[in-house]
Amino acid sequence: MIGMLKGLATTLSTFTRKPVTIQYPDEKHPLPVRQRSFPVLVWDFDHDEPACTGCNVCVRNCPVDCMTATMMDNPKYAEGLSDRRKIVEKFWIDYARCMRCNICVEVCPFEAIVMDNNWTGHERAVFDRRDLHMDLDDLTWASRNGLLTVPFRPQDSIDYLEAIEKGEEPPPISFKFARPEARQAQLERIARGEGPAIRLRPPEKPKVAAVARAGAAAEAEEEALSPKKARAKRMKLEREAKEYEARGEPVPAELQAQIARYRAIEEGKPVPAAAGVAAAAGGEEGALSPKKARAKRMKLERQAKEYEARGEPVPAELLAQIAEYRAIEEGKPVPAAVGAAAPAAAGGAQPKAAAAAGVVGDPNSPRKQRARRMRAERAAREALARGEPVPPEVKAVLDEFGISIESLQP
Ligand code: SF4
Ligand code: SF4
Repeated sequence: MIGMLKGLATTLSTFTRKPVTIQYPDEKHPLPVRQRSFPVLVWDFDHDEPACTGCNVCVRNCPVDCMTATMMDNPKYAEGLSDRRKIVEKFWIDYARCMRCNICVEVCPFEAIVMDNNWTGHERAVFDRRDLHMDLDDLTWASRNGLLTVPFRPQDSIDYLEAIEKGEEPPPISFKFARPEARQAQLERIARGEGPAIRLRPPEKPKVAAVARAGAAAEAEEEALSPKKARAKRMKLEREAKEYEARGEPVPAELQAQIARYRAIEEGKPVPAAAGVAAAAGGEEGALSPKKARAKRMKLERQAKEYEARGEPVPAELLAQIAEYRAIEEGKPVPAAVGAAAPAAAGGAQPKAAAAAGVVGDPNSPRKQRARRMRAERAAREALARGEPVPPEVKAVLDEFGISIESLQP
């Protein structure tokens, strides 16, 4: 009897207790502050772009190799709308493989990836595991929409999250991206008509190299080849074509087109259109225009002035090259002595090739000789400073330039 009453009392006490079950998914328990679901990328509301630069640090550190990221030049950087020079182009995480280890979050140098510890991060059930391949849109979705209310990063003070849980004033944290306040600030900026992004500085000027390339291409278009040069070029290309044939390979159509073009120039016939395009791409090989000769002359004259400023004699070869470019510029015949300075391979009659050999490709050019001498001097000084003998090959170079080892003693 007593036992029965005890059982009944237990039943009655349980009957009056508040239920612990809730109506999921309409109701949800608050998540513990230290729990984490999956990594997500954060959205930088100040610049209205992902905070990720696609640097691949997280990708390299992921232990299960479930991440892929590619980087591109940030178009907003050029416009002065962002201070990120590079930005993520594509990003994938395979949530089916991710083991939620948090390593990617710890290694990211830009605070660009966090563990999502909201319920939305957990509710990832799908019918096909291939649907767990998350792309950039999926990964930034929560952050972009202001849903990433509790982004979890161990680097951030855990006190912050605990203070919120206890209803206390949270300490300030440095992590600023992707928070709902940032999203709110962006919306307010848009409402004020200020636009979502911050203009940091004036737009970048187009790259000098790109401008130079465009200019060079335009100049190459303008340059006309003499029949003699066209013949030399045709013969060179024909040799290349024969090599293809000797190997039993088909001669590329582009090569054939170039041969046809040079033959047409040689014979004074109209240049075939398709071949003209192909040849324009190789415009660098054309004759040197007066404009280019002037640019090269001025560059060499600056070098000559540097010699004079140092009190050193200007090398005869440099003076000869200047004279050569001046002659081309003024449409006069190229001085014979200068033509001889160019390697015979260039035909001696191609001023540009000759000049290029003297300035860039010639191992005996003044600039290269100077670099060689300085390298040898540096190597000798280092050896002497270590108390070691100067290596014989270094000594040979020093002898060549008439430099004594004693003069290099520290
Ligand atoms: S949490 Fe770990 S497993 Fe998942 S993506 Fe990041 S590094 Fe890879
Ligand atoms: S999430 Fe961070 S570490 Fe990973 S690619 Fe982006 S910037 Fe680099």
